[in-house]
Amino acid sequence: MSANVVHPVFRALDETGGGKVSVTEILSRLDQAGLPNDDPRLAALTDGLRRNGSEIDGATFDRLSQSGRRLLERAVRQELVLPSFGDFSATVSRIYEATLRNEGGALAQYIPQLARVDPDQFGVAVCTIDGQRLSLGDAAEPFSFQSSCKPLLYSAALELHGEARVHDHIGREPSGQSFNELTLNKASRPHNPMINAGAIMSTSLLHADWPMADRFDYLTSLIGNLTGGRRPGFNNAIYHSERETADRNFALAHYMREVRAFPEGTDILATLDLYFAACSIETTAQQMATIAATYANGGVCPPTGERVFSGDTVKNCLSMMNACGMYDYSGEFAFRVGMPAKSGVCGAIMAVVPNVMGIAVWSPHIDQNGNSVRGVEFLHRLVETFNFHNYDSLVETRKLDPRHRRKTIESNATFSAIHAASCGDIDELKRLVAYGHTMDSADYDGRTPLHLAAAEGHDTAVAFLIRQGVDLAPEDRWGNTPIEDAKRHGHRTVAALIRRESGEASSRQSSDRENASTSKPSKAA
Ligand code: GLU
Repeated sequence: MSANVVHPVFRALDETGGGKVSVTEILSRLDQAGLPNDDPRLAALTDGLRRNGSEIDGATFDRLSQSGRRLLERAVRQELVLPSFGDFSATVSRIYEATLRNEGGALAQYIPQLARVDPDQFGVAVCTIDGQRLSLGDAAEPFSFQSSCKPLLYSAALELHGEARVHDHIGREPSGQSFNELTLNKASRPHNPMINAGAIMSTSLLHADWPMADRFDYLTSLIGNLTGGRRPGFNNAIYHSERETADRNFALAHYMREVRAFPEGTDILATLDLYFAACSIETTAQQMATIAATYANGGVCPPTGERVFSGDTVKNCLSMMNACGMYDYSGEFAFRVGMPAKSGVCGAIMAVVPNVMGIAVWSPHIDQNGNSVRGVEFLHRLVETFNFHNYDSLVETRKLDPRHRRKTIESNATFSAIHAASCGDIDELKRLVAYGHTMDSADYDGRTPLHLAAAEGHDTAVAFLIRQGVDLAPEDRWGNTPIEDAKRHGHRTVAALIRRESGEASSRQSSDRENASTSKPSKAA
């Protein structure tokens, strides 16, 4: 590009047309879009900007933004997968705060080290397929993976051996039994890769002929690639605790060896050792969200753009997570929440919204199924608000879709407001107002929330809408106003409410007009 042709992104940023753009403005656009300043794709750009003083011109912008420009462009044009990241974050923060009140459940007891963690911790992290990130609460606190490493072990086995070989050794059905049950399927194989027997089997398929140190290195570097960052830490105390309390896992491995379920020549002690080590690798909700985002992104890690798993591996793994990832709550979770997810007794849940985002929730109190109590509640609430259930796209939903631009969010919100008004659902109306949506918008028939609340006789909803300052006499496409709807359906209290308010509003207006005519000097004067 020649020095005097200004890049369109620079022009978009240079709102005054003065030929200069403030560095703070560019950095804050990235921040508002949810792109953190440690994103490796933006490192060269942000470093360069910081070194170039407070303002830059078009030529400097052009020179500095060679790397990272496309991402900046998409952020400025609100073309990232969540275009209104601020709105999304505000809603998720409210869901976090509401979930924080839940103090139910108890710490996992069967590994002594897990029984000693601070139970009040609660971290939530989101990473989208474009690398937009949100972290709440204890999202940067380390915890051991536990069962949430099972999808990774299975995916790694698929990458190394392919589906056919892996499934010679592991089934694909929910077991209907608890995660460490001493049971195999009819073919004497573990039921699926998301329970202990299956995860031990996946582990046996990971470079079985390598020395243990190299096998462990392989796992940690794989996790580093999935998080787009450094290799993870390791909790030695958990590892020892894990090994010392592993009678059931030893029993499972011996049982599987007895029935020749393992690949020929498997060393079950080395396999168990690597499995315990995998459960003891440390992660954080932030890192786990990036791992989940790599799955959501078909196997490509969003912040680095590197392919870690093939699309087939991801498809197989998400199918298994969907069917069997939440212990004995998997069916109910798939029905109600509809996201592939894997939980661990550490209190973590890793959940995936394919083509949109990865989510990690961590809070150590677990329920009787072994799932984080707050984690489950948080994901339920999330899916009540946003259409993240696998099959939400098939139904006319009144949830928000953060993937769409503001306009579509507004039209979803209009639909939600109208529906809420017609049911007298004050909580939903309040939520939409808190989210910043106007209560005045109308559907394609010109029907407003006030029309619906009046026609259905919901006086509390009508009073609420009046307090929001809505237009009291909008006409729908048949020329009907809310007060006429109320009268036609025999809702006298509602009609009186609107009449009184309209009277007061019109006397307010006429006294405003009188005041204006007495206080303002007339043009003629
Ligand atoms: N380390 C645990 C075990 O194999 C994992 C338990 C879990 O999170 O479900 O017993």
